[in-house]
Amino acid sequence: MPINKSEYFKLVQELDSAGIKLVAVSKSQSVEDILSLYELGQRDFGENYVQELLGKHNQLPQDIRWHFIGHLQSNKVKAIVPFVQLIQSVDSLKLLETINKEAAKLDRTLDCLIQVHIAREETKFGMDEAELKEFFNNMPGDLKNVRIAGLMGIASLETKEEQIRMEFSQLKKLADQFFPSDPHLRQLAESRIVSMGMSGDYKIAIEEGSNMVRIGSLVFGDRR
Ligand SMILES: *Cc1c(COP(=O)(O)O)cnc(C)c1O
Repeated sequence: MPINKSEYFKLVQELDSAGIKLVAVSKSQSVEDILSLYELGQRDFGENYVQELLGKHNQLPQDIRWHFIGHLQSNKVKAIVPFVQLIQSVDSLKLLETINKEAAKLDRTLDCLIQVHIAREETKFGMDEAELKEFFNNMPGDLKNVRIAGLMGIASLETKEEQIRMEFSQLKKLADQFFPSDPHLRQLAESRIVSMGMSGDYKIAIEEGSNMVRIGSLVFGDRR
């Protein structure tokens, strides 16, 4: 499917005026289609799979800011750490420690988001509220090459608006709860990211306090 230019410009205008960052989710989209969006000015793109991301990173302009938004296995971290902008899907301390170790080897500091499980679907990844508490309580103070920049969540897919709204509101509340008061504040980035909202639910997410939306099909057309 070709890129929907008018949808893209409409969306960018709407988001820019509210100070919300658009991550264009390009999983399963062709290099040509990503380039078309790049030429319209888009720089932040999100990918779910390491192999796919590596291939696209090699073929596309080097000033693209790549966001990793899929489930990340520890043994794949090394491959993306040299260039990735933001890992949005950290769901364990072990994974964060691996990212820290690989980033340290390259002498860089990587921004990460903690993925929180807010959806009803059990198949989704992410920490629940109790795990998030435990994570912040147990986070070692010496992870100097990662910065926790905020939280990411995916709402339930097939459900009523009220449920989705409740899930987003829960994520925003957790972000408010953990970020100002956290004892490891020095490890946190200054601006706090709340990454929530996709093509079908981003308007609700914005009403509930999102400042980063991850949108695929609305700007690219349906995935193949
Ligand atoms: C695929 C995906 C999106 C984008 O979904 P659309 O419905 O195409 O906008 C956003 N976030 C994550 C984590 C995804 O896997």
